Amino acid sequence: MEKDVWARTIQEQVKRLSEFPFYQKRFQAIDMNPGDIRSLEDFRQVPFMDTKDLQKDLEENPPHGSLFHSDTVRVTLSPGPKGLMPVYHTRQDVEEVNRELAVMYRACGVGPHDIAAITFGYHLFIAGLTIHGGFETLGCKTIPLGPGESQRTAEILNRFRVTVLASNPSFALKLAQEGVPKLRILFAGGEPFSSVEGYKDKLRQAFGKIGLIDSYGLGQSTPVARECKEERGLHVADNLLYLEIVDPETGKVLPDGERGEVVITHLRRQGSPLFRFRTGDLSVLEHIPCSCGRKATLTRGVLGRTDEMHKVKGVKLYPSQIDHLLRSLPEYTPGKYRVILSPKPGGGDHFRLIVEGKNPGGPLTEKMIERMKETLLIRPDTLEFVEKLPEGPRVVEERY
Ligand SMILES: [Zn+2]
Repeated sequence: MEKDVWARTIQEQVKRLSEFPFYQKRFQAIDMNPGDIRSLEDFRQVPFMDTKDLQKDLEENPPHGSLFHSDTVRVTLSPGPKGLMPVYHTRQDVEEVNRELAVMYRACGVGPHDIAAITFGYHLFIAGLTIHGGFETLGCKTIPLGPGESQRTAEILNRFRVTVLASNPSFALKLAQEGVPKLRILFAGGEPFSSVEGYKDKLRQAFGKIGLIDSYGLGQSTPVARECKEERGLHVADNLLYLEIVDPETGKVLPDGERGEVVITHLRRQGSPLFRFRTGDLSVLEHIPCSCGRKATLTRGVLGRTDEMHKVKGVKLYPSQIDHLLRSLPEYTPGKYRVILSPKPGGGDHFRLIVEGKNPGGPLTEKMIERMKETLLIRPDTLEFVEKLPEGPRVVEERY
């Protein structure tokens, strides 16, 4: 988006947001008017918000919260700090999301000739119904399967010769074992996928030639980003939102290529609009021209959660990234590890990592340490293996 168009879009959205008491308070606190945002620098003066702010607003303005819009036609729910929180969608919001999804699906090679099936849930949450709207807008014949047992699902996929499937990648693997028709494209979501090394290979072994499209969305906002048929990272849904990557500690906006927290701002949304919303998700943004026409791309997918950050040897360590790595190694189980952080006798930090499972031994252990270093940007001082890890926290802090 051109800079002046971007600034105008943000100004108009701020004008719309000023109708909501939630934002009135926030903008008044920094003495900001819509016209004040003329540049990215101005925009970055606006403080962040997160789910705790949404929760507080809901408690102060029962039962709907103050981000309710009177034109709401759809209410979905999203997990919050104290339970499920409502997300409001006006007809315009639903149509804009449908259009953006249709464009994204087309960029993956989906067309009106396709028969699509969706195994995400259609109740309460945003996923199934939203994906369904995108496929229908594109003109696909769309089957709302919802979650179900794999045998029945496979039978329906075969009966209707489904060509496009939207599903959790792990459920898709189960379907492959049941025997499914030759799928052209799988839209995966709901669990870490492209960020887990080797996961796509596993699906290609099961399905043969297939487009494997990873996606990223939030309970409050879907889609956020999605791959195209080039499969070189997740393009930001930039007709709907503006995405920043910030340092989770300082809030400083990070340059392209640096790992940090995803922050999103809706550009036109009417119901439950988010402005500089901290997602708690960890990713890397880069601007690379793609044949599909998009540039802003989360090149490494979603890498983990920021809420569990520990500073080790001056580097931010996110334990959930260890889960991503273990998921790519068939001998180990995600979650079955322990990080022990202690002071080094001469000063500094000692990072001990214990993993449940077999010790690969010698050069293979060294290779695993190297992969840890690539993923975590920090090398464990010791990597140990135990047959059975006793119950306990994933991170033991012995430094303080
Ligand atoms: Zn692309």
